[in-house]
Formats: sequence, C-alpha cells, structure tokens
Amino acid sequence: MSKIKVCAECGVPKILSDGNKWESNGSISATVTEGKRGFFYEAGGFTQLFSNLEKSTGMSIDRIVSEGNRKNSAEYLQGLFSGFKGTLARTLFHNRVYERITDLGKIFGYGHFEMLEIRRGISVTVYGRNIYCIPMFIGDLAGTFNVMEDLPAKVDIREEGTGYVITVTEGEKPEEELTSRLQTAPTRTKPGDIAYKRCPACGLPTEFDDLFFDFEEGVITDKVTGRRMTTTGMEQIVAIFRELEAELGEDIVQAILDAQRLYVKGALDREEMEQGYPYLRRFLAFRGMGNMVSYDLRSDGLDAVVENATPTLLLAGMLQGIFELLSDRESTCEYRLRDEGTLEVAVNAL
Ligand SMILES: [Zn+2]
Repeated sequence: MSKIKVCAECGVPKILSDGNKWESNGSISATVTEGKRGFFYEAGGFTQLFSNLEKSTGMSIDRIVSEGNRKNSAEYLQGLFSGFKGTLARTLFHNRVYERITDLGKIFGYGHFEMLEIRRGISVTVYGRNIYCIPMFIGDLAGTFNVMEDLPAKVDIREEGTGYVITVTEGEKPEEELTSRLQTAPTRTKPGDIAYKRCPACGLPTEFDDLFFDFEEGVITDKVTGRRMTTTGMEQIVAIFRELEAELGEDIVQAILDAQRLYVKGALDREEMEQGYPYLRRFLAFRGMGNMVSYDLRSDGLDAVVENATPTLLLAGMLQGIFELLSDRESTCEYRLRDEGTLEVAVNAL
C-alpha cells in the first residue's frame, strides 16, 4: 500500500477532509463532485436494508443498486482524475492509478483489496475481503473500469477463502434508460446552526476522534457504538430508491420504510437513542442526512421535522424504528415533504 496522507493533528486521511465539508446545515458537501452531497453511514445500514428489502419484496434489487453506485464511483473518479494531469496519470501511470484507487477503497472503509492482474483495455482482477456491501462494490468496480479503460464493464465475482476474486471485463453498455433515470441533480439546502468542534488542522468534526481506521483491512469502526462506517455519494442512494419505486411501484415505498425500521431496531442501541434530541440531531447531521429542527417524543408517538432531509425514506423509517426501539410498541408512520427538503414525520403507536 502506498503511503496514505493523514492529518498531522487528528490522523484522519486528508482525502476525507479535502473532499468533504461537514456543513452547519446537516449536509456534507462533496467538493470533488461539486454540488453533490456526501453520505457517511453505517455499512450495515446498506447491507441489512437491502437484504430486508429483498426478503420482503422477493426480488433481487442488486442490479439497480450496482448501477446507481457505478455512476457514483465513475463521477467521483472522473472528478479526482480530471484535467490534463489526471488524464496523463491514467495513461502513463495506469497501474499505479489502480493501486491508488484500491487505497481509496481502504480509506473509505470498503474493505481490503489487492490487484491480482491488470490487462490494459481487457480485464482487471481484484482480490477483496471485508467488502462493505457486495452490490455497491460491484458498482464501484464497474465505475472504476469505465473511467480507467474507457469501456463498459461486466463484473464476475466468486468466493475464494475468506474473500472474493472479482474480474472485470468489457461488458455491454449499461441500459441507457436505467442510467438516465439514475441521473441526479444538485439540491438546494437551507442554512442551519449546527456547531461542530473541529480539528484545528484539517477542519473535520471531532466526531472523527471516535472512529478507528484500519487501513490494511479497509474497515472504519465507530469505537463507541462498535458499528462499521463507510462513505458514499448521497444523490446516488436517493436515485437508487427513486428507481426502485419506478420499477417496483408504490408498494416499494412501504417496503423501504419497513426495511429501514427493522434495520434500526436491530442495529441501534436503546441506551444510545435514549440520549434524545441533542444526540440524535448530531447523529443525523454527522451522517449528512439533514438538520433536525424539532423532535417531540411521547409515550404514544413521535413527531419530528428535519430540514435538508435526505434520503427521506431512510429518515422516516429510522425515526419510526427509533420510536419502536424506545417504546417497545408497534406504530404507523406518516411523512411528507413540506417543501423541497423539509421532512415532517409523524409516528403513532398502534
Ligand atoms: Zn485533522
């Protein structure tokens, strides 16, 4: 592994502070892909959610998840290796750029990767273990191959020992219709007043002090909650849900809410959530999900308003899950967007 540049003060990789800004309005601005938002989230929040969703719908959603993430990764890498210098690096230092990308995967908590073989313009073979989310990672690899080889990608994955061997070859062009439906647009945000304590050197929130980066294994662990964390683009996650809705109809909305509610009840800790509004507000903001401006928890329900809220279904399902976790009661959940990004959620005990 080449040397990872970290902040001298807090030890967090520079690429995270160079590429993201934790804003006071509950969003994370992604500076590499201008106008887009970052998402810093539990890795299990993706895998568990997708597996809950597959169980309830009886359908595989991997293709949509992978395609959404392929676009996200391709856009990010295009931003990172753009301009004359980037193009030159991709051409002259082709293999070294691949190494750099596998290092990025380790920094972002996507797992441990080794390049096994690079056949320029033909195929790339990678060994990986601790992969954060298989369908998302297949998308990441396809996006990498698109940018590096300028070719559409086909990804084959097989288990080997405790990990996987993944081979990417030239594939068919992605379904144009699906790709264009997964297109994202920058969203406008409202100002907010969330104050982070920040590292004096790199400006990242001191919440990062609680995270342990295992660069070798490619795993980021929250030392307080024990949960594995990862980072990705927000808009693509939103686009994946929008696409699921378009393809599978309205019932999927309820299925996503339920899948998220079940994930939250199973993964989050009751004592943690009992810390109430100040904790939850920071919890959401640090993940880039928005600015919670009101939170009213009662024995028979929960009302909350989140500005700059995204992804709305995950937020609504999360709040319902938190209510059920804290109250031990079942509930219904209604939500609506008051304006472009202000989400109102009403959870009521049954
Ligand atoms: Zn720092």
